[in-house]
Amino acid sequence: MDGKGGHAIGIDLGTTYSCVGVWKHNRVEIIVNDQGNRTTPSHVAFTDKERLVGDGAFNQVIRNPTNSIFDAKRLIGRRFSDSTVQNDVKLWPFKVIQGPGDRPLIVVTQNGEDKQFTAEEISSMVLVKMREIAEAYLGSTVKNAVITVPANFNDSQRQATKDAGGIAGLNVMRIINEPTAAAIAYGLDKKASGYSRSNVMIFDLGGGTLDVSLLTITGGVFEVKATAGDTHLGGEDFDNRMVNYCVEQFKRKHIFDLGGNSRALSRLRNACEKAKRRLSVMTETDIEIDCLHQGIDFYTTITRGKFEQLNMDFFNKCVEPVEKCLKDANIGKSSVHDVVLAGGSSRIPKVQQILQDVFQGKELCKGINPDEAVAYGAAVEAAVLCGNGNGELQDFTLLDVSPFSLGIETGFDGEMTVLIPRNTTIPVMINKFFTTGYDNQVGVRFRIYEGESATIVDNNLLGEFWLDNIPPAPKGVPQLKTCFQIDCNGLLSIFAEDMSTGQKKGITINR
Ligand code: ADP
Ligand code: MG
Repeated sequence: MDGKGGHAIGIDLGTTYSCVGVWKHNRVEIIVNDQGNRTTPSHVAFTDKERLVGDGAFNQVIRNPTNSIFDAKRLIGRRFSDSTVQNDVKLWPFKVIQGPGDRPLIVVTQNGEDKQFTAEEISSMVLVKMREIAEAYLGSTVKNAVITVPANFNDSQRQATKDAGGIAGLNVMRIINEPTAAAIAYGLDKKASGYSRSNVMIFDLGGGTLDVSLLTITGGVFEVKATAGDTHLGGEDFDNRMVNYCVEQFKRKHIFDLGGNSRALSRLRNACEKAKRRLSVMTETDIEIDCLHQGIDFYTTITRGKFEQLNMDFFNKCVEPVEKCLKDANIGKSSVHDVVLAGGSSRIPKVQQILQDVFQGKELCKGINPDEAVAYGAAVEAAVLCGNGNGELQDFTLLDVSPFSLGIETGFDGEMTVLIPRNTTIPVMINKFFTTGYDNQVGVRFRIYEGESATIVDNNLLGEFWLDNIPPAPKGVPQLKTCFQIDCNGLLSIFAEDMSTGQKKGITINR
């Protein structure tokens, strides 16, 4: 049934795969793409003839590695000089350069001409594809969408994702957190079977990120208690370890180094990713590639044990956000009713075993589709927001949190004064009074940071502004009301007001 605004879709814009869903016939439909697949690679490729997005782009990566773009999500909202970007750039077959304002720019060649794109632009192409998939299914145009982001995305990454939606011509009704969306998929399913109140942990390990959230679900109310994660931990990291292992094997057997051969590396990465998936169900598998380099075939057998050994530090790292999330939520392990697996990489047996051990052997919940749960939840939220969720979704309420502490620099030694502690329920508005630090101070600089350290040097500077023209007065006298506000998309705005003059200054954190 159509509400007043027509259909609104939910898009899981993943690092490696994207998925789109819509609320129709009183339930969520995950929509298949033109290839009949329920998820679509987040790939964009440029050939001399055309631009390909999704499966089409993915299927020609090996032929055209330098103009086939993936992982835009690992760049979105980040600076080029960011150490994670610098590390990623070394591994990608495509070129990324430093643009104005330290923005990363992706460079491709089409018909002998260089073209540059921002991560937002590449992501917008993926979003257009997802919209088209939905439009083909619904037989009508789609404007409204809910897009998901990792819970641990910071303000700039959220804003950039929202911008990508705008470039794609979508009205982004809301940005919601991926694990929260997955919890909706779990919760609605449980509700149908008459479950009442429960503490649920969502463990979402995908291609690029790990997200962990703890929620209390009561009827239709989903309240996030805490969230934690790693914005650079996932299946692609595991693939890279396997690729490196194979490169070494090749070198040992055949002397040659595959290093500079991006086509060979792309073929190898592809084969490793497939082998990794097989190792989730088999204890041993072969990797065979004909004419990998200099006409030499590559053949190796890899066991699940070897794969685990190559990635053990990554797998163990998955525990940190789990522990942190429990601690922040102040919920004991034994009070967690269900630990729900989401994300393609949650299928890895070792990851499951490590997680199960954390919860003293508790059976993990594999009841939701790990590839589709996020889009499912986004589709539900989209239906609610545009008034399409009738009966079934009537009592549906989502209460999410902000993932980082937010505050300003105070004092002379770079102290961080927190206004909004991490895991505060959003939307939220907090006011606090500040004052001048010396006599007759007429201007105060507000520097806004996110992060958990007591000093600003270890936190992330989001932006700054000055409040000037403060009437001269002894230090400590002026009253500067400072307001921090986070909207339901998790986006932050700040303003400060001089109470004596009513003069106001502020910013919405934007890049
Ligand atoms: P994202 O949302 O980050 O794009 P997904 O949740 O779609 O990620 O998961 C994709 C990742 O999951 C890829 O790295 C893929 O290789 C991995 N994956 C999918 N199926 C399996 C499996 N059976 N075993 C191990 N890894 C898998
Ligand atoms: Mg995902």
